[in-house]
Amino acid sequence: MLTHLECTRCGEHYPADRPQTVCPKDAGVLYARYDLDAIKSAVSCAQLAGRAPSMWRYDAVLPNANPVSLGEGFTPMLASREYANVFIKDEGLNPTGSFKARGLSACVTMARHFGLKKLAIPSAGNAAGALAAYAAAAGLEAHIFMPKDVPAANRIECDYYGAHVTLVDGLISDCAKKVAELKDSAAWGKDGWFDVSTTKEPYRVEGKKTMGYEVAEQLGWSLPQGIIYPTGGGVGLLGMWKAFDEMEALGWISSESGMPHVSPPLRDVGVGTARPKMIAVQSTGCAPIVKAWEEGKSSAEMWTNAATLASGLRVPKPYADYLILDILKKSHGTAISATDDEILAATRHWAKTEGIFAAPEGAACLVAYRKLLVSGFFKPEDTVVLFNTGSGLKYLDVLDPSVARTPSPANPAQSAKPAARQIGGIIGPY
Ligand SMILES: [Zn+2]
Repeated sequence: MLTHLECTRCGEHYPADRPQTVCPKDAGVLYARYDLDAIKSAVSCAQLAGRAPSMWRYDAVLPNANPVSLGEGFTPMLASREYANVFIKDEGLNPTGSFKARGLSACVTMARHFGLKKLAIPSAGNAAGALAAYAAAAGLEAHIFMPKDVPAANRIECDYYGAHVTLVDGLISDCAKKVAELKDSAAWGKDGWFDVSTTKEPYRVEGKKTMGYEVAEQLGWSLPQGIIYPTGGGVGLLGMWKAFDEMEALGWISSESGMPHVSPPLRDVGVGTARPKMIAVQSTGCAPIVKAWEEGKSSAEMWTNAATLASGLRVPKPYADYLILDILKKSHGTAISATDDEILAATRHWAKTEGIFAAPEGAACLVAYRKLLVSGFFKPEDTVVLFNTGSGLKYLDVLDPSVARTPSPANPAQSAKPAARQIGGIIGPY
């Protein structure tokens, strides 16, 4: 039911039957558009019950292509043991241990569908691991450009998945420059290369939007009052907001407050049907969206000297900044930052009180929720969903300083001989 792609800046339509990047006119992010009227008459949300517990249960609102799937999505919506009306959406249970699995499953599915061969990505860490895994599953080449100080798990998993890894002395923005240089090379056009950078192709948003469908389905086709989301590139915010638009057009959620569309099993938690306030959380060490939001701007400036242990939040200027800020405004949400110390303490607190060993980015949501309770932005009776975007197991060297971090060779994947490195007291080839 995918009909075309639409520019989020100028509204221009582009065909969806071939690979597309960004709008050729204004470099705007392209969104996939569907014949929602036809989907509405063919599929009801009640029909989804009993379908396979993966994000592809929503294939009615995804491109029609043979999925490259490792079982991503339909992650648990856990009721907090500490706060009565808080739910934790635990994305750490995805393949590759992070929410990036959703976007890369959709993106690699379409890349294979279009016959692309070599997929390049600049990544702060977890997207690299996810691309490497899905490319391996699809039989495609993954070419990864990531900062040399990414968590060790990201580097090691990419190596094991057989990806071509280039470690860059810099931030994700420097990695993006490397991909841009590659694009200028003669080989790019003829060897089936494609850039799968965040929001520079249309389908990672499609994968991430399934988080919005799941929030609604798992709350009985209703929406919470707030969603707190750690924001690096911001694809999940974009995707969830797009999902709410689509579900409203499909009649799966109501556009007015009042009775939810179908009888919700969780009605007693008091969820409403108005749109949630969307909250972007960043680290004080890299908070371009928070700064732009506080200054009332519609786009972000490049954050200089970005530094935070939450590697997924080290994104100095998200490409889709204008869309993120627009969603915060439309949803009456806000942007808020947390210090690394607050994030570390929250990671430990969640592990001890909830039994959830979260990624630091995810635990930043707890810091934000507490601050928004104190400020009165949220009331204790508001239903709020906090997104834990990944598993703490991927950050062992970040969360425990006793796990050794030693400098790595510039490009281990291309070294003739694997170098012996010491990690956690074990000598191994990487
Ligand atoms: Zn445009």
